[in-house]
Amino acid sequence: MKSRISADRWRVLLLVFVGLALFCSAGPALAKPSTAAKSGAAADSKTAAKAGASTAPKAAGEGFPPFPPLPGLNGGFVRGNFRLVNGQAAITASGDYFSRVALVLVLGAFALWMWICRFVDEDSRGLKVRSEFWNSVFIGAGAVGFLAVLCLPLFALGFLSLLASGGIPFGFYVAERNRRVPESSRIMTPHHLRGVMIRVAARFGIRLGGQAANEVHGPPIEFIGKSDSSGKSDRGKSRQVENSKGFMAAKELVYDAILRRSTDIHLEPKEDEMSVRLRIDGVMYPTEPFDRVVGDAVMNIFKVLGAMDITEKRRAQDGSFGAKLEQRQIDFRAATQGTRHGEKLSLRILDQSSSVNTLAGLGMRKKMQDAVRQIIHLPHGLLLSCGPTGAGKSTTLYASLRDVDSYQLNVITVEDPIEYKMANVNQIEINTKSGQTFAGSLRSILRQDPDVLMIGEIRDAETATIACQAANTGHMVFSTVHANDAITALYRLLELGVEPFMVANSLSAVLGQRLVRRLCKECRQSYKPTREVLERLEIPADRIDQFFRPPGKTPDVCPECNGLGYLGRTGIYELLIINDELRDLIREKAPASKIKLATKRNGMLTMKQEGIRLLAQGITSVDELERVVK
Ligand SMILES: [Zn+2]
Repeated sequence: MKSRISADRWRVLLLVFVGLALFCSAGPALAKPSTAAKSGAAADSKTAAKAGASTAPKAAGEGFPPFPPLPGLNGGFVRGNFRLVNGQAAITASGDYFSRVALVLVLGAFALWMWICRFVDEDSRGLKVRSEFWNSVFIGAGAVGFLAVLCLPLFALGFLSLLASGGIPFGFYVAERNRRVPESSRIMTPHHLRGVMIRVAARFGIRLGGQAANEVHGPPIEFIGKSDSSGKSDRGKSRQVENSKGFMAAKELVYDAILRRSTDIHLEPKEDEMSVRLRIDGVMYPTEPFDRVVGDAVMNIFKVLGAMDITEKRRAQDGSFGAKLEQRQIDFRAATQGTRHGEKLSLRILDQSSSVNTLAGLGMRKKMQDAVRQIIHLPHGLLLSCGPTGAGKSTTLYASLRDVDSYQLNVITVEDPIEYKMANVNQIEINTKSGQTFAGSLRSILRQDPDVLMIGEIRDAETATIACQAANTGHMVFSTVHANDAITALYRLLELGVEPFMVANSLSAVLGQRLVRRLCKECRQSYKPTREVLERLEIPADRIDQFFRPPGKTPDVCPECNGLGYLGRTGIYELLIINDELRDLIREKAPASKIKLATKRNGMLTMKQEGIRLLAQGITSVDELERVVK
């Protein structure tokens, strides 16, 4: 069974078979009247038919001429409607050469056989349950069954043995495969059969059962595909996937991920399954894997929706599509990458309906909030937000933009991609993959005379220089830099090749940041921290009574956080405000140690020091703080 017969060839084979059968069936029926007319013995044939119906034996050749002529009366082989009665061939019935009912039954059995063979082939290879063995069994069993139909004199007996030869191995196969899959993916169970029935009925427009509607249509999420060229939404794409295998699984996966507040879904092929992981509050959590067949089908659905080439499995691709979930508009960004075991896919979930955070909602101390707000409302300058990927840098910038009066000021953003849509802000999406650069777009955007300009990220010398120039020429510029902390970010600009005096003149402040997970208030546990922990965190021991941590392994899962122990995230920030002293130090390219000393003198708290406030308030745990802030 190495070479597989494709679905198309199966279909052609079936069509040929049905065509042949119909031709054989229709041939005699059409031929009958004309033979009768030609022989001019219409009356005779009628009487023959009548006689046949009343089963009165008649000699062969009488009234109903046999064609080709029958061999002698005592011949061993007697065809069709003729039977030997008292040693004579007699017409015992009229009508077709074979039973139409039997034909339909056998054709049906044939179609079923092919369907089962295909199902078993795909299913067994996906689940790794002795694929070659089962394929041979089903091909063999089918062949034996059809032989039985042809050879056994009694059709009913032959047909029963055909059903048995297919049904018995199928039963064994189902038992074997069901042992390997979780309860929900078992087949031929009452639950599964009911689902199939409801789905089949739904296809014919019949709705069965009230709460069963959810089983037919799956969760209330509707995918909106993108067309290949324009990026506009494309109903055809959405419809194309609706009838594909794995559609329900894809819907359930996305629905579940959104309910669990995931930001990313990762489909990762393993040797015999497709593992699924969700990123929730910045941490990856494994969830129930798919078998490879379903997993590949789900991945294909996302690729079709994102207008990606589904035949390309090695080269990295990316695309985007949307979905509607109970009036919420959700955007997805999909990216694929070939790996050792096949293609992996990451799906970023951007919930457009989740409102942009306010400065107050970011989790800063009141004093820091005021300081940041003061900088945002300066007529010109450069505010940099820095941190690793996923530290919430752009969230901070969006919150800052929200604080700016976009009705009275000309606010323009340049992003890759646009993460949140904001009212009254000119958002420009650039596509760095198709050769557009931040720098190139910025030159033309500056001619649009923005008051406030947000640049998604500074990652090259040219963008850095333009940002500094813009800040120096009467624009307020917000941007992000990939750097671990505020002081490193400052040096990052210099490393990119911006002149020190440019940096010194333009930079207003650098905001270093991280996101820590908040402890679930329902299930967090208090404890007294040990002396070592307090020493490590440089906290005076007499100041702290208790810290909080997530509960250990408990039998009952907290319904609030699904047993994760954490719910949502909050930011930890360090704000480096560039004052005159620092400006001088930057201008002379002073070493980092000098700048560090100066910031300490100015009373800047590092992220770690800021984090201790969160520990004392029971907002986060020591483990979480140390995971995020090194
Ligand atoms: Zn909880």
